[in-house]
Amino acid sequence: MNWSDFRHLLHECAEKSGEEWMTHACLKNELKHHAGQLIECEHSPSLMMHYCFQKEKTVMLRAEMDGLCIQEKTGLDYCSKNDVRMHACGHDGHMTILCRISELLSAVDDFPVNVLLVFQSSEETGAGALDIIMNQDFLKICPDEAIALHVMPQLKKGFYTKKGVICAGGKEVDLLMKGEASHCALLNKEEDALRKAMHFLCELDHQAWKSGFVSFNVCHGGNARNQTADHCLLEGTVRFLEASCESELLHWISSHLPKDSSAKFSMGYPVLINHGKMSEIAIRCGCTEIKDPLWICDDFAFYAQRIPSVYVLMGMESEFPLHHPCFDFDDDLIEMGSDFLMKFLQLI
Ligand SMILES: [Zn+2]
Repeated sequence: MNWSDFRHLLHECAEKSGEEWMTHACLKNELKHHAGQLIECEHSPSLMMHYCFQKEKTVMLRAEMDGLCIQEKTGLDYCSKNDVRMHACGHDGHMTILCRISELLSAVDDFPVNVLLVFQSSEETGAGALDIIMNQDFLKICPDEAIALHVMPQLKKGFYTKKGVICAGGKEVDLLMKGEASHCALLNKEEDALRKAMHFLCELDHQAWKSGFVSFNVCHGGNARNQTADHCLLEGTVRFLEASCESELLHWISSHLPKDSSAKFSMGYPVLINHGKMSEIAIRCGCTEIKDPLWICDDFAFYAQRIPSVYVLMGMESEFPLHHPCFDFDDDLIEMGSDFLMKFLQLI
């Protein structure tokens, strides 16, 4: 298989979280020629490939399947065929790496560990990991350890990890401020929903937390230029590097809400914590240790809460960051990434 071509095929059919059925078909079409046991998941596009070599330990490798709701602007000849759907987070590359590993494992009769390759739907919404964790086949196989790679455009080519906290936890937050609609010259300004939002944001601006932050980036409110706003919706996110900071942030928001306002929080992602021994093995495989955790979230954190896990960053040296409409995965990383994971599986 020419794995660059395969990656381009996946890139073309970028899909939204939970709807990755074309991606599912592409993967299935390739994996059915490999030697492992292909496992489908009920009501979900997720797929698993199990290589049982009758060994005591099973190691799980995770790749995400979903694209983002972004209009691609790369101008590539294999650019996404789906409008406002794009692989701007490298998930097409991550899936291809796991497919190459599947091909390599197909060619061997024996291996030091059993391997479970997980092609997981809905990473961007967080629900995909929990679906896999509750899947009956997954529970039966019950992997002992887990690893995931994620491309990181701002880092030099190579592999990076860190013991302990490597990625932040996060939650989405919606704040709805209610007010009264009236002529702007007549009404008591205290009842203006936009003014309530402004006061709240000013207070927030004076706050600083050591291991977390709150950021509102969308604001919808008001109906007419000469009328006070009867509503204002602020959409934002909270990020934290410690669970205790999560409760602190949520408490701050709830206790600073203006009158007649409400807050809605998503289930979100826990803090992603690398297991000590697993991180050491990754470092022995050539990972450089980084000092600071990243503020991005990944639902791999749900596996890491249950199984000794390690999350490894793969440098790419690209001018475009993740989630940028011009981002594209570097095909050189397919071989690099899969060779790294094979080495890791042999050392574990
Ligand atoms: Zn991603």
